[in-house]
Amino acid sequence: MANRKKMTGVCPYCCEQAVLTRDHVIPQCLYTSGVPGNSPKVYACSHGNNDLKSRLDTYFRDFLVLDIEGSEHPVSKSLFPKLARAVKRKQSLMALHVMQAQLMSRFTPSGLFAGFVYGIQLPDQSITAGLSMMTRGLYYFYTRQMLPQNISFTIHRQWDMQKYATDIQLLLCKGAHYVAAGEGDVFACMYAIPQEKPTCSLWFLSFLRKVYFSVTTDYQTLFDQAAG
Ligand SMILES: [Zn+2]
Repeated sequence: MANRKKMTGVCPYCCEQAVLTRDHVIPQCLYTSGVPGNSPKVYACSHGNNDLKSRLDTYFRDFLVLDIEGSEHPVSKSLFPKLARAVKRKQSLMALHVMQAQLMSRFTPSGLFAGFVYGIQLPDQSITAGLSMMTRGLYYFYTRQMLPQNISFTIHRQWDMQKYATDIQLLLCKGAHYVAAGEGDVFACMYAIPQEKPTCSLWFLSFLRKVYFSVTTDYQTLFDQAAG
């Protein structure tokens, strides 16, 4: 990382007081031609910043590169040599999982059989852990508030964003935000944070304009409140 400026404060990933260095919330390794100036950055502790986060960042990049939806993307294609080198040096955890690649049948969103593809069953803990950290970082970057340590994350891969088009329009009209790093080729997202319960946020994250995740934070609390 170019900027190694240090400061003391509370880390938005683990909520602990620590010596902090600047971290790219969206993995820097996803960018092949420079990180856009407005790509979210936070100051984080060295555990989150150098150790755990960078492992999860690499894992996430490898996931996108190999993903059946993302792999045809030009950015994904230019990242592939990096992954190939890591595989050669036996550095990629993802590569181990690729060894377990298996033939899976694939269906279109409407349920039509769409042929076989090579897919991998991800132990998606690493993906959800990475996305949870990213969401904490994004939340802090865009709101200057930290998500408390004890909240839960509900993360789903979304295969068909088209079905949410109307809901997203509605949310945007009601004050949700759309943000993108640069033109949004690598990363863009929409988020909504209810004023009355700010820990219950909703995020739609877009990577490479092809791979989408929804993230809800502290969803159960909202549900419990509605029920009570
Ligand atoms: Zn931390």
